[in-house]
Amino acid sequence: MRILISADMEGISGVSRWEHVSMNDSEYQTYRKIMTEEVNAAIRGAFAGGAEEVIVHDGHSRGQNILIAELDPRAELSKGTCSPYCMMTGIDTGIDAVFTVGYHAKAGSAPAILAHSMDDHILSYRVNGLEVGEFGLSGILAGRFGAPIIYASGDQTFAAEARELYPEIIVTTVKIATGYYSGICFPVESNRAKIEADAKTALERFRAGAGPKALTIHTPATLEVNYAQPFSAEKAAELPFVKRESGRTVSIVCRNAVEVYQFSAMMSRYTG
Ligand SMILES: [Zn+2]
Repeated sequence: MRILISADMEGISGVSRWEHVSMNDSEYQTYRKIMTEEVNAAIRGAFAGGAEEVIVHDGHSRGQNILIAELDPRAELSKGTCSPYCMMTGIDTGIDAVFTVGYHAKAGSAPAILAHSMDDHILSYRVNGLEVGEFGLSGILAGRFGAPIIYASGDQTFAAEARELYPEIIVTTVKIATGYYSGICFPVESNRAKIEADAKTALERFRAGAGPKALTIHTPATLEVNYAQPFSAEKAAELPFVKRESGRTVSIVCRNAVEVYQFSAMMSRYTG
């Protein structure tokens, strides 16, 4: 049983401002340590639940957040950009199931701490008409490799989004968002214990044949990207395979879920 843990930072305990997740800010060091410990809790849960191998991908920003010297040595760490599967690097290494730690709700959700989809200038992604954020895109990609996301952590609005895609997923709610920059944050120590216990339960259920199933999408799939500014759509539409649908919106026909994922990451670079 090989598990991929895809880690982001906005949904980590206590995070409620961009400054907490931005490399050059004074508070960043505190939160990257908390992130590392929450990933460690998920690793302990994975091994306690029957995992034989765990690979962690550091998926926030440039992928340089997790403190390697403090990471549980039983896990491999994938880090840095650009990697072929972005936040899900490692998914092509024989993964049976995926955990996400510290993910956030999709752009436009409320109340949801730091809700966004890849880039602040993207209002939404739609795959075959279904609006998805980073979690949904990760799930679609994982589905192509036959793996479901069986465990996640984040705020309560993210949790609801995760359950819409995978009704049987186990989610640890580490904070209750009251706004974009505000929330009731549960203590770090108790969140860590909950993450470990919930991750263990999720994997035990999966190994027993219960829990979420891998997502599948109808292909060819249509990926729609709705930008905040028409200029972004204009720039993206310079690429021959991108069709301008309206002032702010472009679409791409994708042959499979890997293309859906890679094109959504690529389209997030056409915003400025
Ligand atoms: Zn992030």
